[in-house]
Amino acid sequence: MEQYKMLIAGQWVDSASGQCFESMNPATGKPWALIPRGTPEDVDRAVRAAHAALRSPAWGGLSATARGALLRKLADLLASEADSLARTETRDNGKLIAEMTLQLRYLPQFLYYFAGLADKVEGSVPPIEKPGIFNYTRLEPIGVVAAITPWNSPLLLAVSKLAAALAAGCTMVMKPSEHASASLLEFARLIERAGIPAGVVNVITGFGNEIGDAIVSHPKVAKIAFTGGEVGGRAISQLAARDFKSVTLELGGKSPNIVFDDAIIDDAVKGAISGIFAASGQTCIAGSRLLLSRRIHDEFVEKLLTFARQARIGDPASMDTQVGPITTAQQYDRVLGYIEIAKQEGAKCVLGGNRIAGEGLFVEPTIFTGVHNHMRIAQEEVFGPVLSVIPFDSDEEAIEIANDTLYGLAAGVWTQSMKRAFTVSNRIEAGTVWVNTYRAASFMSPFGGYKHSGIGRENGVDSIREYLQTKSVWMNYGADVPNPFVMRI
Ligand code: NAD
Repeated sequence: MEQYKMLIAGQWVDSASGQCFESMNPATGKPWALIPRGTPEDVDRAVRAAHAALRSPAWGGLSATARGALLRKLADLLASEADSLARTETRDNGKLIAEMTLQLRYLPQFLYYFAGLADKVEGSVPPIEKPGIFNYTRLEPIGVVAAITPWNSPLLLAVSKLAAALAAGCTMVMKPSEHASASLLEFARLIERAGIPAGVVNVITGFGNEIGDAIVSHPKVAKIAFTGGEVGGRAISQLAARDFKSVTLELGGKSPNIVFDDAIIDDAVKGAISGIFAASGQTCIAGSRLLLSRRIHDEFVEKLLTFARQARIGDPASMDTQVGPITTAQQYDRVLGYIEIAKQEGAKCVLGGNRIAGEGLFVEPTIFTGVHNHMRIAQEEVFGPVLSVIPFDSDEEAIEIANDTLYGLAAGVWTQSMKRAFTVSNRIEAGTVWVNTYRAASFMSPFGGYKHSGIGRENGVDSIREYLQTKSVWMNYGADVPNPFVMRI
């Protein structure tokens, strides 16, 4: 068993209680690491360290250009450790080694991008109409940022927050998921090696229901950047609102992948498969509702089944595996539960629908046809390899079904008609729309949700604003200071 420690104020420490919890390898169902079980006392120390670092000469006194240089060093180190960190993630969350390797090799780009942005944050000079008065704005770091992240892409979702927050000059307390904490703790060693001063980034591990409130309600935490489920998101949002704290919430989805009758069918089949079976459906952007024009429905489903049946299911640590296990036992039961619900609701299971016997938490890639959008299987986030196929007869109906959900994270549109591509994309209520592709993402492009899928955006130039606050400064260089009791009209 590997034994990990937390990083607080530049020290590698156990939890104040001395307790640990086990992290399980989903491919074997066996524990492989011991992670410190953080307590509210640990949270307090971590937040105080971050707050002290905010004002310290070593960080608060650095120029934005120097901060960028540190982020670049960190990016170089991350690039050199990407493959090893990918192996840790696969062991911890059961996602495919091929996917984690690609993700981790790409991740330094986020740091380079925000490193470049650090010294391009500029205030403004409004042309104030008052003679003798000069006004300018400064964009200042918002303060201590708490980054709370899930298990499905542990480092991607943590580092994308860190890149923007540190570029903005903030300091951080980071809390990874209790189901996949190891990679962030390993990454934290690189933060030290890059020369980022002690206390600027603190990593605290533990359970959301034990230390979440202590983090969010800590008076010295100014902002919470959260990626996770709706339940956690709502709790954080409500608690943060009590003290008027800023939040960025990246939540769940029930994304429609819409295939029109003029689509290139073979491309759309690949898009539908990667939309739902990549990462065993455990992604917020999963294209879990496949909306099919009734004119191509049967032909499309036939091709989809042929393609899906070829998926190699197995050990996520093998480069040949295409579908891996479900990450947590709780999630495994939830996915199987939704498969039962879909059957009871009258949807037709045309592929899979069962657990896979043996070691590990494996569920067969599953496809339901004859799904109505009002069914629970079409409305609730399953977070597993379960696809609901919903037919439609007109563009209008497709748009209506696509938007008939509480969520609004992403959508796919497959068509060769430019008119359709623009019209439908404009009318979809989602933060991301892909036309004739699915899952494309970049550090340069804003990502976030409409409706219950979240608040705020990550990535892209504007996202650094999520970590800044504006100060308006007024200078009198020549105006009379009037007698306050004599109002001149
Ligand atoms: P989760 O909400 O259970 O946990 C996410 C993190 O929040 C964990 O670190 C957890 O410990 C913490 N947490 C939970 N409750 C908390 C509370 N009350 N206060 C503070 N912290 C709390 O989510 P998960 O099961 O780890 O991940 C799956 C969910 O994440 C899915 O709903 C998925 O759609 C969503 N997700 C969204 C995105 C996105 O960018 N929109 C990306 C990946 C995953």
